[in-house]
Amino acid sequence: MTKATKILGLIGRAVDYSYSPLIHNTACRLLGLRYHYTVFNIAEPCMIEDALRGAKALGIAGFNVTIPYKKTVVPFLDELSMEAASIQAVNTIVNDRGKLTGHNTDIAGFASPLLPYRESIRGKTVSIFGAGGAALAAIEAFNRFFAPKEILLFVRDPEKSQSLLEDSGHDNRAPVTIVHSGAPEKIRECRVIVNATPIGTRGGQSDAQRSIIPLDRELLHSGQIVYDMVYNPLETPLLQAAAQAGAATVSGIEMLIGQAEHSFTLWTGMQMPVAAVRELLLQEIQQQ
Ligand code: NAP
Repeated sequence: MTKATKILGLIGRAVDYSYSPLIHNTACRLLGLRYHYTVFNIAEPCMIEDALRGAKALGIAGFNVTIPYKKTVVPFLDELSMEAASIQAVNTIVNDRGKLTGHNTDIAGFASPLLPYRESIRGKTVSIFGAGGAALAAIEAFNRFFAPKEILLFVRDPEKSQSLLEDSGHDNRAPVTIVHSGAPEKIRECRVIVNATPIGTRGGQSDAQRSIIPLDRELLHSGQIVYDMVYNPLETPLLQAAAQAGAATVSGIEMLIGQAEHSFTLWTGMQMPVAAVRELLLQEIQQQ
């Protein structure tokens, strides 16, 4: 008798564009694992509870969770990992015989490409543009892995962001200072600059891009690491400006692969064949 194929999927809204099926189905094929990864578009937050109850009944092996449901799923899970609990946001769910555990692999995925710079980040000021779920994961990663002196959070609505940080119950080891994105001068003194907004995404609004992200040669320099969470295009306007200024650059593709690698191990117990998956993924993005 052949073994049944286990189902994995991405919970999100309008996420047909996602590269996660390509990443995970490629990894499973290369390792000969009987899993199939698909996309579950869920229209409304009120449907999340039913979706997760159905997943238990159907024995779906696990999920990724993305915008806008990373926080919505939390009350409907049986357990949270320490990382997911720390920011009350889940990007990976494991179904262990009806028990759903929420994890957050964005934190380790974000940290992975910065680990070679670890010592040079310790005790320095770092900055993040945006204050959504991805920014919270970056704050947590900086605190867990890099011990910076201070985290500057550049946002367009400081009041809203302050309440988000308070709500998230952060046990902030490095102080987080919220700065209006209209005053980006402090960028000069930052060792790392992270874009955790969708600005720069292919097909996005170029005006909004000019309004917040520092493409200015006055602010970027060779002592910085510039990290754009946006991965399509691979070379965003921010990364192009950073490279011209002599800064080290990190593409969001590294975080995408890093978080996927950790999720894959949680579901399958196996190591993802990262080099082969990266090659295929880059080919796919470059063909678009
Ligand atoms: P989110 O929760 O919706 O947060 C987005 C943040 O960006 C908010 O703070 C929002 O500000 C800000 N923002 C959006 N448009 C803006 C604009 N035009 N000007 C200024 N600020 C703007 O989204 P998220 O989950 O944090 O994700 C953020 C980005 O990171 C997305 O592009 C996502 O695809 C990417 N991401 C990549 C990876 C990866 O693996 N590479 C992983 C996670 C996320 P307001 O609150 O004022 O609206």
